[in-house]
Amino acid sequence: MKFIFLWLALINYELTAQPLSKPEQDVMATVKKQLPQTQAFLEEVVNINSGTLNLDGVRQVGKLMAAEFDKLGFKTEWVSLPDSLNRAGHLVATRQGTQGKKLFLIGHLDTVFEKSLPMDPFKRTTDSMAMGQGVIDDKGGDVVMLAALKALHTQKLLDNTSITVYLTGDEETGGTPGNPEGRRDFIERAKRCDIALGFETGLGKSLIVTAKRGATFWTLDVKARSGHSSKIFAEMGYGAVYEAVRIVNEFRRALGQEKNLTLNPGLFVGGALQYDDKSAEARVVGKGNIVAGSALVQGNLRFLTNVQKESAKARMREIVEKSLPLTKASISFTDLMPAMEPTAANEDLRKQLENVNLTLGLGPLVAVDPSIRGASDISYVAPYLSGLDGLGAPGKGEHSIEETVYTKELPQVIQRAALFIYRLTR
Ligand SMILES: [Zn+2]
Repeated sequence: MKFIFLWLALINYELTAQPLSKPEQDVMATVKKQLPQTQAFLEEVVNINSGTLNLDGVRQVGKLMAAEFDKLGFKTEWVSLPDSLNRAGHLVATRQGTQGKKLFLIGHLDTVFEKSLPMDPFKRTTDSMAMGQGVIDDKGGDVVMLAALKALHTQKLLDNTSITVYLTGDEETGGTPGNPEGRRDFIERAKRCDIALGFETGLGKSLIVTAKRGATFWTLDVKARSGHSSKIFAEMGYGAVYEAVRIVNEFRRALGQEKNLTLNPGLFVGGALQYDDKSAEARVVGKGNIVAGSALVQGNLRFLTNVQKESAKARMREIVEKSLPLTKASISFTDLMPAMEPTAANEDLRKQLENVNLTLGLGPLVAVDPSIRGASDISYVAPYLSGLDGLGAPGKGEHSIEETVYTKELPQVIQRAALFIYRLTR
């Protein structure tokens, strides 16, 4: 009986999968044929250090990428940023047409590996794995995107499509707090498109990202009367440390169990203090016989929807306001990254990509738990258009010296990206 059910389930999958048309078959074959060039190009770009602060390295990778997109008939531009930001800038490649959906494809040129770190060149470790800096995050992703577009171009199937490729030069700096300029052009161009596809590190053929949590930074400042410790709880009030402890503990009690929400105090100091924003260092002087006059707590807040974020902020403000006697606290928030919310439109895209998966015999496609992925560039544009992320190169160990790409799965994800782009742009 079980067998029959299983068999029926398999048939069902085959029935819902749209078969490959003749032009699609040609694209799939082209991806395979171009694979040696694709792998050689990945090796070439991985071997150029492009840590976010190595501006020359980021631009050099950008130049190589631009030359490739030029060959595919894209118009390429370099978006410079003000010198004060100390960022290399971004590469944009566009083509305009009138058919199908307008796509916004996202990758990044930089890596977490700054020039000061020891660099091992690209290395094949087994017949199905290779290691190198950015080999999946995100040079692998950029190359998956490029190879998919190249196969489509070879088959003349990019004609009359509208595609914007945006490869940022500073994705790894962890958001742009107080620096909206760094993503202004990125957001403006995305708004003119219909669908965003992020080529961040892939999770293999069976998993995709339809939602990501956003992040907000918060600072709690507490002031209190300071003086002889014998008078605490009485004429000296409660001091800044008790008040900060009360607030942080109340945060945990009120919000600690909420689904998809996390709230982490990362720095907590109290006494007589000075704080240096630039180095994130606090200088504290304090003694057991002095009531602490000030306390500072900094942390972050992660949330799945912007409604959840606002309601958490409101609860936090309420808690902060209930000051203990002779203490005064204030909290401020800096939004780092909006949430990529789990919308119906994103779910619809997942279904479309699952259909592509089934066509290619790659099996079902599941949305990953949003709490396990960090924020990335797609989050900035998620409030404006539907999208998916994690279409990039599959592997493991990103942000570590073990960063590895699964080379045997590379052709599969390139074919999948090519077929998805093809179908969306008809
Ligand atoms: Zn990345």
